[in-house]
Order: sequence, then C-alpha cells, then structure tokens
Amino acid sequence: MIPVSFEFYPPKNDDQRAQLDRTAKRLKAHDPEYVSCTFGAGGSTLRYTPETVRQLHQEHGFHAAPHLSCVGGTREEIRDLLRLYRAIGCRRIVALRGDMPSGMGQAGELRYAAELVSFIRDVAGDHFRIEVGCYPETHPEAEDALADVAYFKAKVDAGADAAITQYFYNADAYFHFVDAARAAGIEVPIIPGIMPISNFSQLRRFSQACGAEIPRWITRRMLAYGDDTASIRDFGADVVAGLCQRLIDGGAPALHFYTLNMAKPTQTVLQRLAIA
Ligand code: FAD
Repeated sequence: MIPVSFEFYPPKNDDQRAQLDRTAKRLKAHDPEYVSCTFGAGGSTLRYTPETVRQLHQEHGFHAAPHLSCVGGTREEIRDLLRLYRAIGCRRIVALRGDMPSGMGQAGELRYAAELVSFIRDVAGDHFRIEVGCYPETHPEAEDALADVAYFKAKVDAGADAAITQYFYNADAYFHFVDAARAAGIEVPIIPGIMPISNFSQLRRFSQACGAEIPRWITRRMLAYGDDTASIRDFGADVVAGLCQRLIDGGAPALHFYTLNMAKPTQTVLQRLAIA
C-alpha cells in the first residue's frame, strides 16, 4: 500500500479533543508515515497546535509534524516554537506562509514561505524534514501559473525536502503540475493532498476560498442528492478513491489526507482503495 499521512486541526474544546482522540485511534490502524497538525496565526491559537502535536506524538505514538506559518508572527516566536517542537521530539515541519484571519492586520516579519524555510534551516539546520505547500491549480494570489511554480522552486532551493499539494479533484491537474515542476528543476517528492468528501456545502465554501476546482459533473451529482447524506458520502468516497487510484497508477509517491478530524471519510476511501 502507498505511504499515507493524515492532517488534523488542533481542537479548541473538550468535545473536539474527544473527537480527535477517537479519530486518531481509528486512523492509527492505517499505519501513517506521520500525522500533521495545522496552525492558525496569532492569539490563543498559538498554543493549540503545540498542545495537539505533543499529544499526537507522545500519547498516540505518531510521528507528528506541526504546521508552522510565518504570517503575523515574529522571528522570535517562530524560534520559540521550533525549540518547543524539538523538545517534544518532532523531526518534521510543514512550513507555510499561512493566511491572515480577517480582522487581523499585522503582517509578520517573514513574508513568504521560502523565507520561513530558510529561517528554519538557519535556526535548526537539518534537524527537521521540511514539507511545503504547492498548488496544482495555482495559488489564488499568484501572478500566474508559471510564477507560482517559480516561487515553489524558491521554497525548495531554500531547503524544503518535499511538498504537499492543495487538494484537487482532477488528476490531470496534478500530473501537469508535476511535469511543470520537474521542467523547472524541482526534484523533491510532490505528494497529493486528498480531501475526502463528506459535507458537500462546506467543501464548496472551502474550495471557493482556496481556489480548488470541483468539477461540474461532481457538483451536479452532489446537488441532485440534496439532503441525502448517505448518497453524498458514498458517491464522494467513490470519486475520491478513483482519484487516488489514478494518482497511484500515475506514480504519486504518497497520499496526504485532509481528515478534518473525522476518521470515517478517510477510512472509507482507504478501504475502497485496498479492495480495488
Ligand atoms: P507561499 O509559498 O509564500 O506563496 C504565497 C503566494 O505568494 C503564492 O501566490 C505565491 O505564488 C506568491 N509568492 C511566493 N513568493 C513570492 C515572492 N517572492 N514574490 C511575489 N509573490 C510570491 N494555512 C494556515 O494558515 N495554516 C495551516 O496549517 C495550513 N496548512 C496548509 C497545508 C497545506 C499542505 C497547504 C497546501 C496549505 C496550507 N495552508 C495553511 C494554506 C496556506 O497557508 C495558504 O495557501 C497560503 O495562502 C499560502 O501559503 P504558502 O506557504 O503556499 O505561501
């Protein structure tokens, strides 16, 4: 079976903590290479990611990789977090620029993810394996698709070891993107980010914000199901398992699942893949 990793977000209350605990226990059965935990810029959210990473690493026994974003943060804050993650035992970081939450205006000291990658290398040398984000359908703020690939290369040149893509539902977007990256001299593994489908209206909102396209044939079918969540999940699992199979057949090195802290949608996809 292809290597997998699972992404979680940090819970902020007891109910969410209990949910992540259940999800982590269930997904452990799939033996992920590592799990990662997202990071929100600023304020109290600063402490949720380290708490969750500690728990995933020390209590659940995963290799846990914190996401670390530079938007809104200072070099000193980032240095402190790196120290903390090192003390927890982490060997992997997902390094991102991040997005400023609306209403928070203050920019960070580092502007782009490439600067963050070089800062991590300066501070921590080769201690951490560094993953960065990349965008088969082009980052929404990019000047154009080629500029986006050039900025991706800057992150690799700064010291990134691998990249995880934004999610997508069109396998050709991934294959063309990998070709463009290779042509630009990017040699690191490019791991598809996979978003299982469980709540279609939520997925549409996310996708509009992050520039991921949901093909019309999927949207039309999902809309036809209306409130029939069982059919939405069943069709969604078929679509995503089919996508994963095409990616595996086309040479994807691993799969990174955006779990949204739910076990079932990811498990269903993995079970269908195993049967296929
Ligand atoms: P960058 O690589 O810095 O690129 C950002 C934009 O700037 C792109 O449009 C790029 O083309 C452009 N750019 C880059 N360098 C330059 C330059 N020198 N001059 C001009 N333009 C430039 N967000 C969070 O807040 N927390 C998370 O935990 C999180 N996890 C994520 C995990 C993955 C796998 C992915 C793919 C995304 C994640 N995000 C997360 C979202 C991410 O932070 C946003 O997509 C953000 O807008 C861009 O981050 P980046 O690291 O790709 O930025």
